[in-house]
Amino acid sequence: MFESLSDKLQAVFDKLASKGKLSESDVNTALREVRLALLEADVNFKVVKEFIDRIRARAVGAEVMNSLTPAQQVVKIVHEELIELLGKPVPLDLSGPPPHVIMLVGLQGAGKTTMAAKLALRLRKSGQRPLLVAADIYRPAAIQQLEILGKQIDVPVHSEGTDVPAATIAKNAVRLAREKAYTTVILDTAGRLQIDEQMMQELEQVRMVTRPAEILLVVDAMTGQEAVHVAEGFNQRVPLTGLIMTKIDGDARGGAALSVRYVTGVPIKFLGTGEKLADLEPFQPDRLASRILG
Ligand code: GDP
Repeated sequence: MFESLSDKLQAVFDKLASKGKLSESDVNTALREVRLALLEADVNFKVVKEFIDRIRARAVGAEVMNSLTPAQQVVKIVHEELIELLGKPVPLDLSGPPPHVIMLVGLQGAGKTTMAAKLALRLRKSGQRPLLVAADIYRPAAIQQLEILGKQIDVPVHSEGTDVPAATIAKNAVRLAREKAYTTVILDTAGRLQIDEQMMQELEQVRMVTRPAEILLVVDAMTGQEAVHVAEGFNQRVPLTGLIMTKIDGDARGGAALSVRYVTGVPIKFLGTGEKLADLEPFQPDRLASRILG
């Protein structure tokens, strides 16, 4: 999804490299072009400003410009600052006593149900005994979808239909996990097309009765800066421990992936890279930075 941004950045760096020795104005011109490329990729403007300021502070100066390979030095600085911006990788916290509850939240269509199954598959492969929980009581189709996915990966799905409150289903699932020695409980909660009060109250109740080790917001990377607003909205009501960006394989401009951690302070934990259940990557800032820089 970073192709267009990568191409533009590559063009800026190629131009720099062709100059040999660099003047301050060469670097400033390049940084202006980098700034434009980021804004066009829908990166939040505050993030872009901070990012460019940090690069300029390091790149404009005798040390870089008098070096033998100034353009390479500038690219290196951009790469390092990109990693800094994306934040450190923070693994899932499954350190407490099991069962560990992982609560997935997010808007409808973000890829929550798919992600629940992707995480279950990953955890099962790492030796955990996951239990999937259909806590979206408003959409029978979502319950059915989770049951189908659970069968595909051989992970049990706890559901109680659409008439029982989500918090009760979640609480029952945790009790079942204790009884049957499941080590992780993955809650697929209800999403709406946009944030609403009823959804938030329900999520607060589910959180209260299950005390999740992780509350992960699933955001669709294709929604651009809207993803940042959604993350802020959820984080105000249910304190998020991590973000999962889905549809990273899409052809969106990539800005959300770059700004959402910086704006919310919540670490990105996983990337969804396709529709298949194996299409899940733990977030690695250096890898993502390299992908962006091409
Ligand atoms: P939910 O409403 O949040 O539970 O979303 P779903 O899990 O039902 O996913 C919505 C659509 O997005 C489905 O068609 C999924 O196959 C698709 N989807 C989910 N994750 C990804 C991803 O990482 N990449 C792509 N390309 N599609 C995805």
